[in-house]
Amino acid sequence: MTTSTSPAELPQERRLVTAVPGPKSLEIQSRRTAAVSAGVGATLPVYVEAAGGGVIVDIDGNSLIDMGSGIAVTSVGNSAPKVVAAVQEQVAKFTHTCFMVTSYEGYVEVCEALNRLTPGDHEKRSALFNTGAEAVENAVKIARAYTKRDAVVVFEHGYHGRTNLTMGMTAKNMPYKQSFGPFAPEIYRVPLSYPYHDGLTGPDAAKRAISRIDKEIGADNVAAIVIEPIAGEGGFIVPAEGFLPALVEFANANGIVFVADEVQSGFCRTGAWFASEHEGIVPDLITTAKGIAGGLPLAGVTGRAEIMDAVHVGGLGGTYGGNPVACAAALGSIATMEELDLNAAAREIEAVMKPRLQTIADKTGVIGDIRGRGAMIAVEIVKPGTDEPDAALTGAVAKACHAQGVVVLTAGTYGNVLRFLPPLTMPSHLLDEALTVIEEQFLALSGA
Ligand SMILES: *Cc1c(COP(=O)(O)O)cnc(C)c1O
Repeated sequence: MTTSTSPAELPQERRLVTAVPGPKSLEIQSRRTAAVSAGVGATLPVYVEAAGGGVIVDIDGNSLIDMGSGIAVTSVGNSAPKVVAAVQEQVAKFTHTCFMVTSYEGYVEVCEALNRLTPGDHEKRSALFNTGAEAVENAVKIARAYTKRDAVVVFEHGYHGRTNLTMGMTAKNMPYKQSFGPFAPEIYRVPLSYPYHDGLTGPDAAKRAISRIDKEIGADNVAAIVIEPIAGEGGFIVPAEGFLPALVEFANANGIVFVADEVQSGFCRTGAWFASEHEGIVPDLITTAKGIAGGLPLAGVTGRAEIMDAVHVGGLGGTYGGNPVACAAALGSIATMEELDLNAAAREIEAVMKPRLQTIADKTGVIGDIRGRGAMIAVEIVKPGTDEPDAALTGAVAKACHAQGVVVLTAGTYGNVLRFLPPLTMPSHLLDEALTVIEEQFLALSGA
């Protein structure tokens, strides 16, 4: 395809020229049905021609407002100029050698950046992988090697990936686990702090979780506590203040490796480099992926040197882990985050979104909770006057937004959360327009 417009210069507008999806997308959709496994879903079956800034342009010429960033990945915007330049330069030099065979500087530079940017000023090491699930699996491997213990503690509403171990660690059955078992042993799930539903303070919710660990597993058997500082797929659940610090304190006191899964919440998404910072916690290990590399597949585990170095030589790795092109993309992406101060941009998005969503809540009565941090914001949709989930309305609002050219995502254990993950480079007029479209769909569908 030849195009004179670089994605970063795409007109930043919502533009509908056909139904969504349009005829060209529908044509490919029918080829997809014949060629692609039915097990691979799609939120909105439009086929993309270009994307950049705050828009996704489909092959029918529709320009959609992107409130999903490909699930929190293109935080710097699609085809961000520095990412494109870094990738083009690297891909012309060499595409792969395998870091475990003959190494290259980009991998080391990304690890240095991770060690510098993650919370805590202790000595750190990092290792790179391809996906978030792989990062989580490796964090568990490292914690087990270090502690010589087996048990892994995870939380209700947690999501950690789709490999066997991470499926077992993930809470929600459909669609992630159904008919895919048996799952790996020694995974124990304990209650999360979910302020909207449990009404507990952070310390009380932590006490409940810790008591379960003590009584049902035994702290001495636990290698790792793995938790998302803000539950992503679970519905952007922000634990009550004090919950995470109490868990960290318990982990430290009992020789347990505390792992923050920041695959979704990391890299400026919440208005800080990592969501752990909002509660002032210093995890022993942090897993990263999604937003790290502007859309290229890259993931990392970063943590205390003595833990990361406890693994025997050759114990960590993978053919593609820390691929040089993905590393170049990460360096371009991190430079963009620093240069454009995307943490501030995320906080601005929060400041714009929360009052607008509150207005919708007040007008319709179907939004029970507005939560999240930075550009990781969600609403929980309920039957008016209750906290009963309304998954049908949630799906209907999402679908109506899609038809109006706004890409939104759903989430939540009960399927009743609408979540917003705009690129941090989203122009403010587009964010405003997206919120207007969202409000209109809520008003039309809630009967308000
Ligand atoms: C997406 C996600 C994962 C899995 O990442 P993949 O790259 O899809 O394997 C793990 N943990 C969290 C918190 C995630 O949001």
